[in-house]
Amino acid sequence: MIYRLLQSCFIAGLLCCAIAQADTTLLRPDRVWTGADESTHAGWVVLVENDRITAVGAQTAITVPAGSKVIDLPGMTLLPGLIDLHSHLFLHPYNETLWNDQVLKEPLPYRTLAAGRRARETLLSGFTTLRDLGTEGAGNADVSLKRAIDEGMIPGPRLFVSTRAIVATGTYGPARRNYTSDADIPQGAQETSGVDDAMKVARQQIAAGADWVKVYADYHGGPTGALTPTLTENEIRAIVDIAHATGHKVAAHAASDEGMRRAVLGGVDSIEHGYNGSAATFEMMAKRGVAFLPTLTAEEAYSTYFDHYVAGKTPPSAGMVQAAHAFALARKAGVTIGCGSDVGVFAHGTSYRELEWMAKLGMRPGEALMAATAVAARILDRQNDFGRIAVGLYADLIAVSGDPTVNLETIEHVKFVMKNGVTYLTP
Ligand SMILES: [Zn+2]
Repeated sequence: MIYRLLQSCFIAGLLCCAIAQADTTLLRPDRVWTGADESTHAGWVVLVENDRITAVGAQTAITVPAGSKVIDLPGMTLLPGLIDLHSHLFLHPYNETLWNDQVLKEPLPYRTLAAGRRARETLLSGFTTLRDLGTEGAGNADVSLKRAIDEGMIPGPRLFVSTRAIVATGTYGPARRNYTSDADIPQGAQETSGVDDAMKVARQQIAAGADWVKVYADYHGGPTGALTPTLTENEIRAIVDIAHATGHKVAAHAASDEGMRRAVLGGVDSIEHGYNGSAATFEMMAKRGVAFLPTLTAEEAYSTYFDHYVAGKTPPSAGMVQAAHAFALARKAGVTIGCGSDVGVFAHGTSYRELEWMAKLGMRPGEALMAATAVAARILDRQNDFGRIAVGLYADLIAVSGDPTVNLETIEHVKFVMKNGVTYLTP
């Protein structure tokens, strides 16, 4: 009790200081890209007070409080922190360790410590927000990881987590058919069967701390190994009802057209992968406001690991051609497309590859940057908190050399990173 009392006095003291003298920083790059549109603004500066952006514009138009810290970013563009809406911090590239072996053989404490290290790498690469879509057998450890980051214990991006994710019984992996039949094989997600059970599992995951509920509408891990729909439309709808009633959104892994169709009709908020989506399904997504996260880099990574694809040397694999086709159909239909890479399948800290893929397949650099900032924030329903450089938003800011709206590859080498007004990387 005395400790509590002392602690609150201490906190009150800190607050007094904060009110008396705000911590202000003036950022002076060559230009600012705000994420409001695709244009850059030469000569603009950004003022940060504590954790928020308090001014943005021409330096002559901004009153800078005396005693403000100044960070010069010569030759650089300041832009909003990048967002990857499909990550797996608890996985690492499958050419290092196969997915089955990660799930079955890597102990939970090891996976959690590794995830902490990857969170730091991710933040320093300029990604200040992740939606982490399932721990793949690491239970609810993502909730603790998020807490440790939020408490400032370890550096990492702002996390939206989904805990264990939901799969139809017997449809995910490690596939039991490959193991001795009397063994209890741990699974990469939580299994469910039937509408009532699906509701229960959704409630359990939300209670455990899931920000988003992730469902698998199809998978190739079933009895035959073929890509088939898994959860029924009614099971998906039951999960969506529970999630939406408590202010949570639902992301659906769906690579088959039928899996996508069921997920969309079931009311999910985003479709992940969508490699075999038809024009009709993408049109339905556009009409219903369902977002698309194309995970183009994951497809490239699979093709490299398992299909003899060599970047720059062999033609794209059939899977990559299919993914590119789906991406084009989604763009044509006017679907909201965010940056979602499935990083974890490939190396953490290289989510920028997804923006480069989207640009390679037809997006302008500014359009790809929007998908990873303002559009991604809108998909999270957090457009008034981050994703743009605007007064009142959290100071999630990064800087790169040159102009990324002209040369997108500058995002491979981020020189400055600030999250919530705290500087993590300086030039
Ligand atoms: Zn994934």
